[in-house]
Parts: sequence; C-alpha cells; structure tokens
Amino acid sequence: MYDLVVVGAGPAGSTAARMAAGMGLKVMILEKEDFPRYKACGGALSERAACCLGLRLPEALCERSITGARIHFQNQVKEKIKGYRLTTLVTRSAFDHFLLQKAIEAGASITFSRVLSFSDKGDYVSVQTEDRIYKSRFLVIASGCQDALKDLISGKTSRDDIGICLVAEIEANDMDIEARLGRLLDIHFGIASGGYGWIFPHRGYYSVGIGGLASQLIHPRQVMSSFLENNGFGRHHIIHGHTIPLGGRKRRIARGRVLLAGDSAGLVDSFTGEGIYYALRSGEMAARVIGEEKEGDAAQLYERRCDRELGEELRYARILSRIMHNHPNAFSWALECHDEVIEKYIEIPAARRSYREFVRWLLPRMPFGLLSMR
Ligand SMILES: Cc1cc2nc3c(=O)[nH]c(=O)nc-3n(C[C@H](O)[C@H](O)[C@H](O)COP(=O)(O)OP(=O)(O)OC[C@H]3O[C@@H](n4cnc5c(N)ncnc54)[C@H](O)[C@@H]3O)c2cc1C
Repeated sequence: MYDLVVVGAGPAGSTAARMAAGMGLKVMILEKEDFPRYKACGGALSERAACCLGLRLPEALCERSITGARIHFQNQVKEKIKGYRLTTLVTRSAFDHFLLQKAIEAGASITFSRVLSFSDKGDYVSVQTEDRIYKSRFLVIASGCQDALKDLISGKTSRDDIGICLVAEIEANDMDIEARLGRLLDIHFGIASGGYGWIFPHRGYYSVGIGGLASQLIHPRQVMSSFLENNGFGRHHIIHGHTIPLGGRKRRIARGRVLLAGDSAGLVDSFTGEGIYYALRSGEMAARVIGEEKEGDAAQLYERRCDRELGEELRYARILSRIMHNHPNAFSWALECHDEVIEKYIEIPAARRSYREFVRWLLPRMPFGLLSMR
C-alpha cells in the first residue's frame, strides 16, 4: 500500500512525487514512456515557474535567458526589453528528466508502465497498469492533456477548451540564433485563430511553433507550413502536434482520493499557453494536501486552494485572450498607441504583476467602442 501513486512524470507529477516523498510519504510514480522522453513544448520556463521550483537548475539545462519579446501583428512589430530575466529556455526532455531524478532522490519510486484505469474504493485507490495493480491512499493524475484517465473526474473536455499546437525543433548555429533573436522571444499574433506563432532561441536550435483554438484552427499543418516558410525555415521539418487545455473555466479537479494536477486539471494560460508554472504549483499543492492527512476533505481542500491560488489568474488570462483574439482592433491599438501594454504584460511571467492587476489596468484604458469593432 502506497501513500501516493502519481500517474505521469511531467512537471506536475514529478513535483507532486518529490514534495510528497520529501514529507516522508511512500510514493510510486507510474510513467508510460522511458525517460528521458521527447515532449512537444516551446520550453519557455517563466521566471515565476523557475521561482516556485524550489530547486537550482543546473547551468547545462538553462539554454538561454530571455529578457524581452518581439511582438508581430499584421504589419506591425514591437520590441520590449526588460533589465531582468522573464524566462529561461529549457529543452523539456532534459528538464523533465532532471525533475524526475529529483523526485527519486527525495525517495519516490518509478515504474515505467502505462496506467490503464483506476478505481476509488473508499479507503484506498486501486490503480491498474499494463502488468499489475497498485494500491494507494491517494492518486494524483498528472498524465497531461491527451490521456483519458482525467475524464473520470472532470468529464470530457469541450472542444472550445482545447488548443492545438504544432512545433518543430530546427537546428541552427548559435551565432546565427544570437544574431536573429539574442534574448528575445519572437511572437507572431494573428496567424493562428485564437493563438499565435512562436520562434524561441534555444541552444543549437530554434523552437518554432503555432498554437490556436481546436474549434477554429481547421488546417493547423497548413498554418504551420506557411509560418515556417514565411520566417525563412523552409517547409520540410519533423513536426510534432499536441493538444493543450485552455484554463480559466471552472471544472472538477478532485474527487474522493483522486486529485488532478497540471494539464490533466486544465491548468494552462489560455492566452499564452503557459502550463509549466501551473503544473509545478498544482503538483506541489496536491502533495501538501495529501501530506496534511486531512483524508476526509483532501479533494475539497485541494480544489479550494487551486481555485484561490491559480483559478483567478487563469480566469483573467481567459478574459484577456477573448478580448485580444475576438477584437483584432484591440491588438492594433495596443501595439500602435500603447507601448505600456506590452511593457506591463511581460511583467506577468516574471511574477512582477498579476493577470488581475494587468487586466484591471488595461480595460479602463481601452477606447470605448474598440471591443465592438471586428
Ligand atoms: C507545443 C507546445 C508548446 C508548449 N510550450 C510551453 C512553453 O513554452 N512554456 C510553458 O510553460 N508551457 C508550454 N506548454 C504547455 C506545457 O507543455 C504543459 O502545460 C506541461 O507539460 C504540463 O505538464 P504536466 O506535468 O501536467 O503534463 P505533461 O508534461 O504532459 O506530462 C504528462 C506525463 O504523463 C505521461 N502519461 C500520459 N498518460 C499516461 C498513462 N496513462 N500512464 C502513465 N503515464 C502517462 C506522459 O508520458 C507524460 O510524461 C506547451 C505545450 C505544447 C503542446
């Protein structure tokens, strides 16, 4: 009998496992892929995510420090650079492997096997993998957006709450990367419905991708091909596709002895697609609730804490996403006349401003009528 079984060794699962093992709990992680494994991701670890890691990232993992953004919309381009770090670029296979190693060092065990189903028996949870059954006091499902285990707790996610992302890692010389982007993230709005395209400067490669609403992005591969070509990368690259949940809508994320964390809980910023921060925070919160041994109300307590600490931010991100994507004039207005908008927005990933503060600052400044023009 384990205290905690965790499904998935992404940032949410490894963090939940590390924190719980650190509290002296007997923890088993069940992961379907052999590690290190590829993970489709831009690899932007925001400063707020890095700060809540509670670990020092080895230099070798930190490929580039980002201090600014270059934003494109229609024919406009704006650049904003801060005097401090906003984001660190990492390669997810290495980053996730590092977090898993830390969970193991803290005392968690790992078995590489796919979880097929689970059943809450009242005083324990039974977890069925490809080759055996595990029993545990609690189960954290952190198996990402595409795995169906979470549906037994939260129900099936509506297509309106899912984004589609395509990404390619394109090898390049570090000097060329430095000359092209240096310490900037390159973000292209207006090219994918309800989302954007990105070019992120890693070590030895660019992460180039597009993401948008699943309900509106009808031909994602075509959008990706055009994006690659228009930015001088040519069309022929290995392209990985993955879905992403869009946060900010209230949904069930825990029941009885089963808690959802990270993408499984739908905790992703609808505007930027940032999910690592929310995965780390929710993984940590799940472990704490379980460690506190308030067995009767762990699910309620977890839902309340996630809602209080993450829910509000995600709701404001969703509001911003709606405003900017449904009203292109708002975007043009922000880029043309209001330098301050980007200036202030990019303080959010650096944990220097909350979404709530930003949206409440922005809305009264937007010219009346802008939101009704399409
Ligand atoms: C293309 C793309 C780009 C992105 N870029 C960024 C970015 O730059 N910055 C950012 O902050 N966020 C980004 N995100 C979001 C971010 O990747 C996710 O929010 C984050 O990975 C969520 O972590 P997680 O631990 O919840 O899930 P995951 O990282 O998805 O990990 C889930 C793990 O569970 C395992 N698993 C799945 N099913 C099972 C099963 N049945 N049994 C056992 N194991 C299972 C998987 O193999 C995987 O290892 C991006 C997402 C995409 C798709």
